[in-house]
Amino acid sequence: MSEKIDACCADERQDSTCCAEGAKTLVLACAGGSNVGQVANNVMLGVDRQGYGNAYCLAGVGAALSGFIESAKAGRTILIDGCPVACGKKAFEKYGIEPAKYFVVTELGITKNHDFSQLEQETQAAMDSIVSKL
Ligand code: SF4
Repeated sequence: MSEKIDACCADERQDSTCCAEGAKTLVLACAGGSNVGQVANNVMLGVDRQGYGNAYCLAGVGAALSGFIESAKAGRTILIDGCPVACGKKAFEKYGIEPAKYFVVTELGITKNHDFSQLEQETQAAMDSIVSKL
């Protein structure tokens, strides 16, 4: 399979480094199928919007795509997992990537569940806590 189809962004950016080429800080989140996974994803977007770094594709690392792994190794990374299963951290460890900052949403006082009705409040609480530690 060609590396050229590994990229995620616009058609003209099919270079397997996605949207954050040259970014100093990459922000990755597990984006799991629970409230805390989605809080992690929301915080990644919020951190990007506030200018702390560029949101990046953890799935690209998990899928063993070389461009994503090399970009994550080369950059400063902020990694956010939803819960102690730590899917993002395990993906990083598999390829010897050490995050500069690492957060687990359930360690911020948010209980993991499958209720997505409180995401706005949970995201704000996690965002406040994480931004204060960046
Ligand atoms: S770290 Fe937890 S919330 Fe995130 S993908 Fe893994 S199991 Fe799901």
